[in-house]
Amino acid sequence: MLDFPLALLTQKQFLLSELQAHGLRLLDSGTGVASRRGGAGPTDHKAVTVLGTTIMVPVHTRGAANSTYVATPPDRRGISILQNGDAAVCEISFPPPPRFYGLTTADGIPYWKIALLHSRDTLATTVLQTCVRYGNSATKCQFCAIGESLKAGRTIAKKTPEQLAEVAAAAQRFDRIANVVLTTGTPPTNDRGASVLSECAVAIKNATNLPIQGQCEPPSDFGWFARMRAAGIDSLGMHLEAWDESVRRHIMPGKAEVPRAFYLEAFAAAVTVFGRGQVSTYLLAGLGDSVQSMHEAARVLIDLGVYPFIVPFVPVSGTPLAAHRPPSAELLRSVLGPVGQWLREAGMTSDTVKAGCAKCAACSTLSTFETQPACVA
Ligand code: SF4
Repeated sequence: MLDFPLALLTQKQFLLSELQAHGLRLLDSGTGVASRRGGAGPTDHKAVTVLGTTIMVPVHTRGAANSTYVATPPDRRGISILQNGDAAVCEISFPPPPRFYGLTTADGIPYWKIALLHSRDTLATTVLQTCVRYGNSATKCQFCAIGESLKAGRTIAKKTPEQLAEVAAAAQRFDRIANVVLTTGTPPTNDRGASVLSECAVAIKNATNLPIQGQCEPPSDFGWFARMRAAGIDSLGMHLEAWDESVRRHIMPGKAEVPRAFYLEAFAAAVTVFGRGQVSTYLLAGLGDSVQSMHEAARVLIDLGVYPFIVPFVPVSGTPLAAHRPPSAELLRSVLGPVGQWLREAGMTSDTVKAGCAKCAACSTLSTFETQPACVA
């Protein structure tokens, strides 16, 4: 394994990667914003502010239950002490629940069932909470929990453009939301959700003028990229999740039927519409790709103008991968150190992204590696 030299790590890079790898035990489980449980993409996290940076840290996983990192109940100022074993490490805090969570639509749906606050200032929603690949073990992505929050009544199956515009306007007004993420389960249509994302983006943009990221599988007609951009989508995510085809087939047999080569074609076409660094992809570290594979992926993607948002895989309760080992902190640092340097050299750092996960950056510590001189071992 390429090991990122520990001597070059800042305290922040070290501590944040430790927390995302090991998780955090909360002595008071009601602290901060209610945790994300279920839903598309990474989940079972809680937003935590550590050394001035807010990141999502696993709190509901098996690893978190056994983590040596513990947060004491917050004091009157809302400050908790982060302990590692018996040693106090630093003060941490938890963003408070947003005010828009207390509101409901005219037809009685709580706003928090329509969209959620992610990290500090990102509003995120899964427009279609159903997926053509979910519900069948031969096709579903083994890490995904998109159906769990719907089953538990924590969300609704389809959010309308009007509902999303109403919630986004309230979140902007009361909670200073700075950008919006629209993701979707994959519908059984060739546009792969681009159409429904575009309708929602028009309504949200008209109501708020906020930057928006859309996330979907590559549509069969790349003409959708220009239509999505015209609808007000500023950045686009199309998520490979893993790089090696064998890992993709093993972990997500349905999605892997769309080969990596087709994603690369789609990325190239999307970059001509959205611009370099405004197209991104999730890669989950710990699913099976080696450090070398992830570095190869990052090099290819950055050359194409695509931001490789490399995120530690978090085993989610209720999924087939619930018992899968999460990546070690050493593996994360080995992957992210060089990639942060390459992104900085390419002028494609997180702060240049207009909207979305690469902008929010809370599910990975990658952005902290973009700002420090790094050395590849
Ligand atoms: S990085 Fe994406 S999924 Fe993670 S908290 Fe931010 S918006 Fe949500």
